[in-house]
Parts: sequence; C-alpha cells; structure tokens
Amino acid sequence: MKMIENRMVRKFFWLMILFMLTIQLQAQFPRFKMLAFYSTKVEKDHVDFAKAAIFFFKDLTKGNGFVFDTTSNMADLNDEKLKDYSVVMMINDFPHSPAQRAAFEKYMENGGGWFGFHVAAYNDKSTKWPWLLDFLGGGVFYRNNWPPMPAKLLVDDQTHDVTKGLPQTFVSPINEWYQWKPSPRERKNIKVLVSLSPENYPLGLKDIVPDGDLPVVWTNTDYRMIYMNMGHGENVFGDATQDMLIINGLRWVVASDKKGNVFEKK
Ligand code: ZN
Repeated sequence: MKMIENRMVRKFFWLMILFMLTIQLQAQFPRFKMLAFYSTKVEKDHVDFAKAAIFFFKDLTKGNGFVFDTTSNMADLNDEKLKDYSVVMMINDFPHSPAQRAAFEKYMENGGGWFGFHVAAYNDKSTKWPWLLDFLGGGVFYRNNWPPMPAKLLVDDQTHDVTKGLPQTFVSPINEWYQWKPSPRERKNIKVLVSLSPENYPLGLKDIVPDGDLPVVWTNTDYRMIYMNMGHGENVFGDATQDMLIINGLRWVVASDKKGNVFEKK
C-alpha cells in the first residue's frame, strides 16, 4: 500500500514539473505574433512580391522566434482577430470596407503595430479616407517610374534603430518607386529614414520621375508604424543590405510596443 502511494506521489510530482515547464515555454514562445494581409487578386508583380515576402518572413520564424500568420481575407481585420497580434503587415493590399477601416484605426490608435509595403500606402482622390492620409503623412500618390528599376537610396538618418549599421547609400533591387504629393517629409511627425537619391533622375523609360523629393522609408512618430516603398516584383528580397533594413524595421516596430520590449532579457 505504501509503495503504491509513493508511486502516485512521484507520478504527481513529475506531472507538476511537466506542467510548469509547459507554462514557462508558452510564456517565452512565441515572442510575438504578426498577421500579414495579402491579396492574390491584384497586379501580377504585386502577387509575386507577396509570394516572396511570405517565404522571407516564414523563414525568419525558424526556431519559433515569432508567429507569422497570413491571410488573404481582409475581413480578418476586426477587433477579435487582431487582439493577439503585435504587428499587422500589409504586403500588397489595404483595408477596404468601412468596418475594416474602423477596426484598423482602432487597432493603431490603441498602440497596435503596422508594417506596410509599397501599395499599402497607395491612395488617390477616390480613396476618401482622411485618417489614412494623415497616418501616412499626407502624401497622395503622384507618379511612378516604369519599368521597375533598381535605384540608389540615401540613408537619411544612420542613428535610428531601423537604419543603424546600414551604409550611407546603397543600390536597392528592382522596384516600382512611388512619389507622393506633398512629400510626407513636410510633416513634423514624419521621420524619413531612407529616400531616393536625386542621382537617379530622370528615373524610368515609359513613366519617368524627373525630380523632387521621394521618401522611401518613413515612420509617423505618433504611431508604432513603418512604411517601406519596396514591394513590386520578386526581386525585393535577397539583397543583404535591404534585407537587413527590412528585418530591422520589423524588429523596431515590435520592440516599440508599449506593453514591453519582447527582445529584452527579463
Ligand atoms: Zn507596384
């Protein structure tokens, strides 16, 4: 009888140890969760970019550092779905319906994180969403180069966490570059981190960007957000400098969470 009791006590003891270990592992992994929205119903070059981006970020999750979920259903942009995610990424799309827009505004106004590529900032007269325009720094789509081309970029601030360690200039792989009017740089709450070098002008063959300010990477300091204009075609990833910029950007958005920096050792 005594032996059976001992065995049961031991069994209970080990079960408790296992339970506590599981709880601890759950607390450490994942460090954060991100949800990436993409569309398969947009122009081919933007779909190609989405495929490359999903491959790139999935690869970064090796070892369970974070969870990278993807969805092509913009209706997933709702309070219930977003509540566990530290970052919402817009790969090649943006909120459409009033309900999606409202959910996104609420998420961002309450400290949510955003990482937008390329077309995520696209807006014109038909967009009619003043909040988004303000969020992005006031720039309406003005013009682009065509065909997509590589471009020399200037790092505006080498001391920022996103650009630290990057060279002052680098050649960014083939992309379609968007210019905005007015330039987001004119806003006090917009911090431009990378811009197109004027040495590229005139940029393009069919569609030409002849001159002017062209910010490429920036943040609105009122929000936990970063925008990068890269995002056209399958060549965006694979350049060591640019990959570093993208990873730094993601890391910075996550680390800036007011709930705490998940990268800091406790
Ligand atoms: Zn494009």
